[in-house]
Amino acid sequence: MKAARIHPDFFEQFTCIADKCPLTCCQEWKIAVDEETNQRWKKLAPPKTVSVQKKALSEYIIEKDGERVIGLNPVHRCPFLSENKLCRLVRAYGDEVLSETCTVFPREVHEFEGHEEETLMPCCPAVIDLWRAAGTVQFPEVPGVGHDGDNEGEEMILLQIREQIIRLLQKEQKPLREALLESFYILLEFHKETLSEHFVSEYFSDKTLEELETAIREVEVPLADTIAECSELLQDLAVNYRKEGLYLCYLDPVIEEAEALSDGFDAQELTEKWMAFQSQFLQYEPLLRCFLQNEVFSDLVMPEGNLEQMILQLQWIAITCTAIRQSLFLKWIREGEGPLSYEDVRDYMVVISRMTGYDEEDVREYLLNSFETLVWDWGYFALIVGNGTVPKQ
Ligand code: SF4
Repeated sequence: MKAARIHPDFFEQFTCIADKCPLTCCQEWKIAVDEETNQRWKKLAPPKTVSVQKKALSEYIIEKDGERVIGLNPVHRCPFLSENKLCRLVRAYGDEVLSETCTVFPREVHEFEGHEEETLMPCCPAVIDLWRAAGTVQFPEVPGVGHDGDNEGEEMILLQIREQIIRLLQKEQKPLREALLESFYILLEFHKETLSEHFVSEYFSDKTLEELETAIREVEVPLADTIAECSELLQDLAVNYRKEGLYLCYLDPVIEEAEALSDGFDAQELTEKWMAFQSQFLQYEPLLRCFLQNEVFSDLVMPEGNLEQMILQLQWIAITCTAIRQSLFLKWIREGEGPLSYEDVRDYMVVISRMTGYDEEDVREYLLNSFETLVWDWGYFALIVGNGTVPKQ
């Protein structure tokens, strides 16, 4: 029997905006070429308009980080992208000529044991535009999860936990940072026990969540420490991309501000700036809520995954979100602390998502190399997410 395929409510509304795209996926990125496309491209000549002429399309393919990808030109663009941002291959040969990556992007599919999930990646500005226009997003129920009290098997329980975390993120009266802090705390508690459906229901009950909310609000995490740590995280994430000359117009200004911050800062002044920034940033909370729910839906539980991997993925989602927030804060300072534009928010969501779009193995390796412990303690998670407390005078 064919597995049920489910997707969020916005999935079918996606259309590529091609030449109108402000941040095309045909530049500064690894564009994978599958073996079947490689074989087809051996028999096709490049259109005459491609500036560097080679015998066959396959000759434009290179190996990078163990992957077969299209070799970008010296300004990091796909050699088949025309000046007016259209694909020369599609114009010459039709959509069928494209590699699987170019055909499918920004869609992704995860194949679980009993069903398949489709979603859209935030690495595309048209996806962020969709969420902005919609204001809220809805995710499908996974067949068999959480309704009949019979969620057998680890995967079903992990999917049940994911459903509960998405519910937490959907509560408009709950600040996003609190939803993240509560979710991470609960995952760490689960990590100490044998997972069971009963245990999940108990932890996500209204009573337990209320107690957790009260306890978390009492924890003081000085804002200046959060800002300083997030600056360091952003600098670490950006190192290799800057070395390769990628995303420089987005990264250089914010990394220069981050470096200035590392040289020393006045905690009081920095905190005041942050509060002023938050009053601007708050207008994009509904958009961030959509972004975060999508991250959780698409990345928190992987096929054949386990609880530890789920915890690592939540850490990675926290890194992604805090890097977006930190970039926007630093850019806002850099540009005179005025209004924060939607275009800036969208562009940093896209660029940081492209930079952090690692697979599970790469996420694990990055975390292993960058932190003392693979699974963080709750205090470190709270340090980077922040809990909005201002140090007492
Ligand atoms: S980033 Fe999205 S909208 Fe832009 S060219 Fe790629 S698929 Fe199309």
